[in-house]
Amino acid sequence: MTIAIYPGTFDPITNGHSDLIQRASKLFDTVIVAIAANPKKVPLFSLDERIELAQGALCELDNVEVSGFDSLLADFAREHSARVILRGLRAVSDFEYEFQLAGMNRRLAPDVETIFLTPAETYTFLSSSLVKEVAELGGDVTEFVDAQVMAALHNRLR
Ligand code: ADP
Repeated sequence: MTIAIYPGTFDPITNGHSDLIQRASKLFDTVIVAIAANPKKVPLFSLDERIELAQGALCELDNVEVSGFDSLLADFAREHSARVILRGLRAVSDFEYEFQLAGMNRRLAPDVETIFLTPAETYTFLSSSLVKEVAELGGDVTEFVDAQVMAALHNRLR
């Protein structure tokens, strides 16, 4: 039974995140999408809202769970008996930070491996911050996020 944890801010979840989660759901028995409270980043959506939006976008994937966390990822992984931390790589620019993070997590939880997946190429330019920026300026983000996320963005940014 291999459990993978996909940690992130998911403010909000995009089709890029979902693409990665779909791929991971075929590789692992269970995927736990772990949404970081992350108050330092001053998220647009509260933790509960981000959890609800992710649950809505992922409801068709049976072996995917969504959970919030505000502890050390290494501890969260141990508590859930996860063997894998999943992260996404879009471009070379992601690599340096992700490499550092993977190194630190290996120190903190030596039994947990970080595994990287890449999204379909149509999502390589997609990020939550860019989606928020485009939506804020009135741009159409239909093809980048789930319908529920789009409605939430519309309400929040109106
Ligand atoms: P964080 O604040 O931890 O970077 P994010 O929600 O921005 O949280 O991202 C979580 C993970 O998902 C990161 O590994 C990030 O590189 C990856 N990711 C974000 N957007 C995409 C995308 N469009 N395609 C693939 N991976 C992505």
